[in-house]
Amino acid sequence: MQKAGDYLFEEVRVTESSSPDFILNGEKVDIWNTELKNYHSRSIMDYVRENLLKYEKKGKDPFFEIIGKEQEKEMLKNALMSGSNILFKGMKGYGKTTFSKSISKLLPEKLLAVKGCKIHDDPANPVCFSCKKLIMEENEVELTWVGRKWVRILGDPMMTTRQLIGGLSIQKIREGFDIDSPEVFTPGRILKAHRGIAYIDELGAIPSAMQTLLHELLEEKQITTPEGDIIPMKIDTLFIASTNPANYRGTSDIKEPLMDRMEEIFIGPPDMLEEEIQIGLKNMTLQNGGCSIPEWHLRTIARAVRLARMKDGKIASRIGVEPSCRATIKIFDHVKASAMRKGRKAVMLKDYGERYINIKLGLRSRMELEFEESDTKDEVIEGLMEESLNRTSVEIYSKIPKEIFGGMMEELSSLGNGAIDVEKVKIPSDFLNLIAFLEKLTSNRNEYLSALEITLESLRRCTGLVVKVDSGKYEYAGERRV
Ligand SMILES: [Zn+2]
Repeated sequence: MQKAGDYLFEEVRVTESSSPDFILNGEKVDIWNTELKNYHSRSIMDYVRENLLKYEKKGKDPFFEIIGKEQEKEMLKNALMSGSNILFKGMKGYGKTTFSKSISKLLPEKLLAVKGCKIHDDPANPVCFSCKKLIMEENEVELTWVGRKWVRILGDPMMTTRQLIGGLSIQKIREGFDIDSPEVFTPGRILKAHRGIAYIDELGAIPSAMQTLLHELLEEKQITTPEGDIIPMKIDTLFIASTNPANYRGTSDIKEPLMDRMEEIFIGPPDMLEEEIQIGLKNMTLQNGGCSIPEWHLRTIARAVRLARMKDGKIASRIGVEPSCRATIKIFDHVKASAMRKGRKAVMLKDYGERYINIKLGLRSRMELEFEESDTKDEVIEGLMEESLNRTSVEIYSKIPKEIFGGMMEELSSLGNGAIDVEKVKIPSDFLNLIAFLEKLTSNRNEYLSALEITLESLRRCTGLVVKVDSGKYEYAGERRV
């Protein structure tokens, strides 16, 4: 055995022949046997690679919960396979965190760790002082299981070394403090991610002196204290960070040496309208509630949000900060909330609110205009919704088969007494053309009246054969059947 203290600054590796007795759940165990040998001595990257290959072999996507983003997934898999750290770059709300979380399922479900260790040390390769001491000096060492670790570290300009790395005092050790006393070593957030994933949310917001330390930790596996002592810190962490584009408010840049140690993957908005809708439906709060959002409303809302991102478009050219998928998610919630409150079985146009207030509710805080004036923001939102509804109307109108158009108009002309109140109207069972079209739009009976409403709205916008007399009330303006 080495003299106490000598090994503290060196790497300690235990082999089968130099191993102390390990105790797990009160029983002596052989950690080198087939049952346990997979849970220690290997690095996080080893596990990630092995599990990634398992998914590949089965032809399965490890990141199935992420909708679309096929290219980004390919880049991520290659980066992980080649043992790289990852930087997700992109605006908030496009799934950087979801992506980083989904990587954690490539970690082993559990690992063996030294019991009581603050950073869950590997019994065969301890990193912290107190475990090195235990392993080197004790005949018996207690072990425990630890689950997958995914540690989120929120980038903060006020972050201190103690918070990020931890407190570490060589002076205290020299003064004779016990090495596992809190005065000597308090692990910071990044050390807590030892043998797991460290996710630094908004890396650019971390002060640049901290970024230098982080770089030293990642690259040299050591830390230089303010007193100039070099401490070995061979932590084993898959390091994932996120950042907003550089010009975004409140973020500073990431230092170049750190950038040079990470592979950048850009995470932008969903490529397709259908993906935006799926993300919205999957993440909304009001999943149930006996009320549906018909397809035409999903498309109208998701498209309005997407129009706000099209910088070359007439309306969006005034928008400085674009709304993310969270806008889509929340507006789905708001229109459904309205429908549920009013006891509707399906969302109707009324649920957008008067002058689209329920849409504004979800959009105002999530987009900024180039030149900010609060009243014009509302105008922009109204413009987006009008444009989106026009496009939905064209979609619906173009679905009306030529051969039933005349018959359907005739039926509409005699529907209701005067104005057609889309919430109360009874559709006679012999209005076969109209019924056939509503069935074409939806197979959900609860959505029939919403389908009738969007049909009338589409006819109004595309042909003028129908006029709107009030919210939810339409009138046939063409020739009436006598
Ligand atoms: Zn330890």
